Amino acid sequence: HAKEDHDAGFKIYESEMDAFIRDRLRLIKELKIAIEQEQFQLWYQPKVELSSGKILGAESLIRWVKPDGKVISPFHFISVAEESGLIADIGNWVITQSIADCSRWHQMGFEISVAINLSPGQFRRGDIVSTVSKALNYAELAPEYVELEITESLFVEDDNSTKDQLDMLVNRGMSIAIDDFGTGYSNLNYLNKFNASTLKIDMSFIRNMTNDKRQQHIVDAIVQMSKAMGLKNVAEGVEDEATSTLLQSLGCEVAQGYFWSKPVPFEEFVHFLKQ
Ligand code: C2E
Ligand code: MG
Ligand code: MG
Ligand code: MG
Repeated sequence: HAKEDHDAGFKIYESEMDAFIRDRLRLIKELKIAIEQEQFQLWYQPKVELSSGKILGAESLIRWVKPDGKVISPFHFISVAEESGLIADIGNWVITQSIADCSRWHQMGFEISVAINLSPGQFRRGDIVSTVSKALNYAELAPEYVELEITESLFVEDDNSTKDQLDMLVNRGMSIAIDDFGTGYSNLNYLNKFNASTLKIDMSFIRNMTNDKRQQHIVDAIVQMSKAMGLKNVAEGVEDEATSTLLQSLGCEVAQGYFWSKPVPFEEFVHFLKQ
């Protein structure tokens, strides 16, 4: 009897595994079609200078807009894109489109920068530098307006090719920001090794800082450390005025968050710039 139960349990487990694999394969297939049919959009969230309220730039954040109009968050497909290698194609599209959009803002009279998220998988194919260069030439945009956001997970791989590619991008005038700073498993040596110029303080530290002293101390420490190292800092996920005020008193200079704006489509962002 016990054996039968065991078998039954195993079968359920097996079919769940099948379903899991089927779902992933379907997602990969859909992503390939999404790339071919350009079903992606870039939405933009402003980066705000706390002292003046001025918009310094915007972060581009990918959205998958299905043919039925449903908007899919990157959380639901970036990791699968990463594991399947599709991230290289998606990422190249993101780079080219972000740079083109930034150039359009400049043509409209808004001299702001664009921040582009990069995944580790994009460095494997080795065509990031040429993609960025082509996009900058085509859009006639100066590299100084492009900031590349990478996460600490990139440094765990620690291969020379990634570092070489980042060095080339920095040598061409682009800057590097460490995204989600403080949540990864890396040591701090990479901050010097990779020529980053900005630390983006992860949202998880910002979220409760107005009523959690310990969170506040962490943010304080990151701001002090970045200043001591000559790095800029950006706070992510600021949702209210109290947090914005507190950040400013801690010496944080730039922030992003729903308090100013959620990520919005290009046209809506232009509307926001005009206000
Ligand atoms: P991230 O780069 O750390 O982006 C910040 C995320 O926090 C965005 O989520 C943004 O919408 C959200 N956010 C901003 N302000 C607030 C706030 O005040 N409150 C809350 N609750 N959330 C806020 P999103 O757009 O869903 O992107 C999630 C992640 O997906 C990004 O995290 C980034 O790691 C990745 N991602 C997005 N676009 C791209 C892309 O084009 N390429 C790659 N490789 N990754 C991307
Ligand atoms: Mg980012
Ligand atoms: Mg982040
Ligand atoms: Mg992130």
